[in-house]
Amino acid sequence: MKNLVYLKNVVTLQLDENKCTGCRMCLDVCPHEVFKMNSKHVTIQNRDACMECGACSRNCPASAISVQAGVGCAAAVINSMLGKDGECCCGPDTGGGKSDCC
Ligand code: SF4
Ligand code: SF4
Repeated sequence: MKNLVYLKNVVTLQLDENKCTGCRMCLDVCPHEVFKMNSKHVTIQNRDACMECGACSRNCPASAISVQAGVGCAAAVINSMLGKDGECCCGPDTGGGKSDCC
């Protein structure tokens, strides 16, 4: 899944590099390899690959990451699997303005 890219320039992910202690937790929990390690802290290397799952933000001990989890593609996929209606951002449009990714 690491090479998946969703809609461009819509991800809410924010990183405060000044707060980052370089613990590497976000590197471990991110399923899409969004972050990379520099000498002392992480940076965002692939923002558009973020699925806004929120794992990095929840596990960052320095509160250096913020993301609006539950509003993006991951939420749409999960809601669809639960039978809830909602938009989906990562599949082909099958007509009528609704996509068919879920
Ligand atoms: S989890 Fe937080 S403190 Fe740790 S490397 Fe990632 S951003 Fe930095
Ligand atoms: S929200 Fe999820 S996909 Fe996005 S950077 Fe954090 S862990 Fe990775």
